[in-house]
Amino acid sequence: MICSFTFAQTNNPSNKAPSSSNTTQSKVQVNQRNGIKAPKKTNSQQSNKGTLADSNKKESAPDYGANNYELRIERGCIRNSFANDKLPSNIGIDNAIFSNYFKNQTSTFFRRTQGFCIPYVVAYGKNNALESLSIMNGFVRNQNSQILTFTPSVFGGFLTQETNLIDQMKKWGELFVPLRDVLYETQRLSDRLPVELAWELNSVVRQIYSEKPNTSDLSDIEVRVIVDFGDRDRWAQIWAVELIDSKNKEVLADAFWLDRNDIPGGFFTSSGESLERSFWTNPLSYRRISRGVGTATVTRKKTTIDPNTSEKVTVNVKSYITHIGIDYAAPTGTPIFSVADGKITYLGYNGGYGNLIVIEHPGNYQTYYAHLSSYNVELQKGGEIRRGMEIGYVGSTGRSTGPHLHFELRKNGIYIDPYSPKNNLDLWTLRNSDAGNFTQNILLLGNILKP
Ligand SMILES: [Zn+2]
Repeated sequence: MICSFTFAQTNNPSNKAPSSSNTTQSKVQVNQRNGIKAPKKTNSQQSNKGTLADSNKKESAPDYGANNYELRIERGCIRNSFANDKLPSNIGIDNAIFSNYFKNQTSTFFRRTQGFCIPYVVAYGKNNALESLSIMNGFVRNQNSQILTFTPSVFGGFLTQETNLIDQMKKWGELFVPLRDVLYETQRLSDRLPVELAWELNSVVRQIYSEKPNTSDLSDIEVRVIVDFGDRDRWAQIWAVELIDSKNKEVLADAFWLDRNDIPGGFFTSSGESLERSFWTNPLSYRRISRGVGTATVTRKKTTIDPNTSEKVTVNVKSYITHIGIDYAAPTGTPIFSVADGKITYLGYNGGYGNLIVIEHPGNYQTYYAHLSSYNVELQKGGEIRRGMEIGYVGSTGRSTGPHLHFELRKNGIYIDPYSPKNNLDLWTLRNSDAGNFTQNILLLGNILKP
């Protein structure tokens, strides 16, 4: 087969999950589960701890500042030759034990190379330690494409994982959309992408495009998107985004999704830069933040006796308390979006919070959305939520002096300031343990760099 083996073309949404009957518009649903997943009946062993029971804890947040996760990613395509077994040292990996292991593992692999170069992606951790190397058996993607990923084993030595492209293809579709539509006409994507994914694509592209101020003409750029449209067991997900100069086919910027079992997945550029912090701090999409963590003025009413008249009077007393959470000023009714996938653990009125939604995310993270005027009527406690779903609307219920969203991120019930540079959370970090999956994803889904 000579033609390039492309991803399934998805110029129309016909191969997506059918739209559910209860949708009012023809927008593509995020999967077959009617938008919002119903609660699973079997997981009632999940306790409520870490949500409201802990809401009054004012302990100082533990230090999540450990900065030892960050990876440096390099990629390229090295000329196919008789010396393929020396690939590690040829691309600068200085590790004799690994080089030997690599040679043993690839003796048959290199017999099936195709094309003139061997694409690779390598991830280095601290002190240039090798955290992952992925290689593909040729420049052209087709049904014979195979990827090997090498990672250090926790037991010492290394592990090899083999991935055949053909097994992975069914899951993903590829589509090309104009950059202008992604940035400014996002609603135009609604017949090709579920609304949450269109929003997510817009968010990703805004971040990676702004890094390229000298790309002059918007209309010359197209966006390549690799998307999994999901099924009844998993949410639809964008897996790769590339901004491509349509004249010279050069990739100007990119982002790749990384799925993780223990914590929520995230988007990272191919050089390892995280795009996640802005997702976790934008429950109103792109509204401006009026106030961060710090002191806030709280007005209390106090009844005193007027010394002149000896009558009871009520006066407003201003006091300062430490404000936990972030307040986003916005008009009543402004939609609020879930910042990440998770499960609703609280939905209802709660004292000073007013109308409150709490979402539990993998890794014992919780997000709080308070003072809401109303909720998305489809929500129910225990229901699963995807990032970007509309969950409620800005209001001023509870202890609030005007319409705004009060938002909190917590871990194990303890508040974390997502804006603090000290809080380099695993949520927005490429960890060493993520390296293998990440380098593999780039080779599976990304544009192949020519040597
Ligand atoms: Zn607040």
